[in-house]
Amino acid sequence: MNDTALSPSPVSTASRVNLLGMTRTQMEEFFVSIGEKKFRAQQVIKWIHQIGVDDFALMTNVSKALRERLAQIAEIRGPEVVHREYSTDGTRKWVMKVGNNAMVETVLIPDGHRKTLCVSSQVGCALDCSFCSTGKQGFQRDLTAAEIIGQVWIANRSFFEGEPIRENRERAITNVVMMGMGEPLLNFDNVVPAMQLMLDDFAYGMSKRRVTLSTSGIVPMLDRLGEEIDVALAVSLHAPNDALRDELVPVNRKYPLEELLAACRRYLGRFQSEEGGRRRITMEYVMLAGVNDTPAHARELVRLLRDTPSKLNLIPFNPFPHAPYARSSREDILAFQKILADAGYICTIRSTRGDDIDAACGQLVGQVQDRTRRAERWQAKQGNPREIIRSAS
Ligand code: SAH
Ligand code: SF4
Repeated sequence: MNDTALSPSPVSTASRVNLLGMTRTQMEEFFVSIGEKKFRAQQVIKWIHQIGVDDFALMTNVSKALRERLAQIAEIRGPEVVHREYSTDGTRKWVMKVGNNAMVETVLIPDGHRKTLCVSSQVGCALDCSFCSTGKQGFQRDLTAAEIIGQVWIANRSFFEGEPIRENRERAITNVVMMGMGEPLLNFDNVVPAMQLMLDDFAYGMSKRRVTLSTSGIVPMLDRLGEEIDVALAVSLHAPNDALRDELVPVNRKYPLEELLAACRRYLGRFQSEEGGRRRITMEYVMLAGVNDTPAHARELVRLLRDTPSKLNLIPFNPFPHAPYARSSREDILAFQKILADAGYICTIRSTRGDDIDAACGQLVGQVQDRTRRAERWQAKQGNPREIIRSAS
């Protein structure tokens, strides 16, 4: 019998406890609960996350008796990789099976010495942004903490393949962005422990500036996030006024721009004193031809963000079958950028690397899923798609 069909949490088997998604505190509790010393947690976390092993027998600084006992009661189990693709430009993509026909994707994007991993937090997404192929899939389920950190674990280990085990391994992944499938703030209880492991010196030890959570703007959860963890924040803004944002990011009807920007300022306010006011929220802005990309929109954006320390990241729209939009032309994106730069904003344009393996932002649905059919159904439901003003450049 196929046990993934029965289990809602395939990363753990019923008989053994999976140590992969445990934070240090949780693992300390685990060791105390089995009559062991707390400090075992540091050792084992290091073996799992830094050295990248999944076999207790390899943990040479743990007594043989304890290793044998752990092998009986515990396991280190990541999501099952069903497909992987390594592109010529260094981009890597993994499709992972997380249950009965549910897949998520994880993408690694290299840029000079940087290796940024784009991590998924949910299977599908309930928020249905009009330009997002994940949203068209609907929501299937939350990922567990083990499935979220498991994506980092698998990607990082992929750089050690074929090497002998070494205790002083240097982490390969330099940055993590929670920008894959799903809305991370709607899976708070699993996303926060996974990010704690990214920051923990005994696990990945990443700087809090290099772990970014991207959200469409779930205002109450933004406040909770600030209470629990300090990471970089990116907000999917995409429109300079409520009327347009209501259409592109429907959750705006619940949490409109004024409330969202006030929550952004509260988030920054918590951490501002330690950094002398230099911190900014990254505002993501997808460039949709003729929809939100005119000079008038750029000027409205300048006014909107006046009181919220921000920098802008313009994302050229990544098309998917039957999407009712086209990517803005390079010329229009540059003109938009110039207006923001002239007003004093740092404004970057996201490169669209990874296109060749279908791994760019907003394309994380997977060839394993039939997204064409899904998009067709969605289009039928929506009525006439928006007129495409300019073809993709
Ligand atoms: N749910 C979160 C994080 C995942 S989406 C959020 O919305 O922020 C990561 C980023 O990709 C978001 O800024 C999202 O708006 C953007 N995105 C989604 N679909 C896209 C597409 N087709 N082209 C370009 N960017 C897209
Ligand atoms: Fe969900 Fe983000 Fe896609 Fe919107 S853009 S549907 S919030 S994943």
